[in-house]
Amino acid sequence: MKKHRVFYFSHAPENVYEIIREEVPEGFELVTLDSDSDEERRTKIADCEVVIVAAKPMAKEFFEFAPNLKLVHHQGVGYQDTLDVEALRKRGIALALTPAGTTIGVAEHTVLLTLAVCKRLPFADSELREGRWHINTLRPHSLELYGRTIGYVGMGRIAREVAVRFKAFGTKGIYYDPYVALPEEQEMEVDLRRVGFDELMRTADVVTLHVPATKETHHLIDSEAFHKMKRTAILINTSRGSIVDEAALCEALRNGVIAGAGLDVFEVEPFQPSNPLAAMENVVLTPHISAGTRDALKAKMRALFENLVRFFNGEEMENRVLLTLM
Ligand code: NAD
Repeated sequence: MKKHRVFYFSHAPENVYEIIREEVPEGFELVTLDSDSDEERRTKIADCEVVIVAAKPMAKEFFEFAPNLKLVHHQGVGYQDTLDVEALRKRGIALALTPAGTTIGVAEHTVLLTLAVCKRLPFADSELREGRWHINTLRPHSLELYGRTIGYVGMGRIAREVAVRFKAFGTKGIYYDPYVALPEEQEMEVDLRRVGFDELMRTADVVTLHVPATKETHHLIDSEAFHKMKRTAILINTSRGSIVDEAALCEALRNGVIAGAGLDVFEVEPFQPSNPLAAMENVVLTPHISAGTRDALKAKMRALFENLVRFFNGEEMENRVLLTLM
């Protein structure tokens, strides 16, 4: 029987492909790249029915090389800046997302970055390795989370999981989301209160971003927003780089307008050492790895291939964004 060919659009090392292959069910074949080459992409996509898109955006030019393409399945959820939805719609290609795995990975990473900024972890670790024992240096700057207010910008899947985790630290939560109001019982369960944007920026000790990259959220956190924040507050961004005006962030960090930042995403990725953030001590930086765990990849791939089985059996897919004409 002919197998459904599924093209993995991002280039990854062989040990990552191996994890994905473990989850490929009967009747499917995973097609992977030998190198990070668009020429190889154009050749390999030709006889594939499904493309899995991860961090590498799939520009619309690839569609003309994919006559058999029926479905694009995002490995995560942030499709707004990795796919041309209009081009998919025009070709009648279905689109589905994979919140499984993604949500927990990002929620845990948000907690990790917050604690690392509060305790200046990279500084303490690298200094100790050089033989410098800073038992008191960080005392005037280190913070605890207990009793502090966490401000969630966006209250979707990830923010809700972050709120559950932060509750265990004895924090209070406030959130700003023009489109979502949680039921009262859910707000009470994790000590959350819905507020306006200005109140959130003014009162939160930690501002954590969980919104999609859209025209509306582009540079939502700009110079004006930083000036509303407490001077002791920190910013955590595990959503998308475009949501923060990075030049304004550098300015705010340099001038003590805010106290620190934990960032997994940047306006320009991959991050370059020439980025001024690289020279700042009050930031913790990671290379877009919030959902990049082995556990997350396995969970994503299991959920994703279960959805592919549904699709080819003519059943309703989960987390579908676009309808197919198939
Ligand atoms: P979601 O769709 O469940 O939640 C997003 C929330 O943002 C929604 O509740 C929506 O109402 C709200 N929102 C939209 N516009 C807003 C605005 N202008 N102001 C305030 N709130 C607004 O998505 P999710 O699964 O929670 O993921 C959130 C984002 O995290 C994704 O869009 C993606 O960009 C990012 N993400 C990053 C990584 C990573 O590796 N760093 C991994 C997964 C997801």
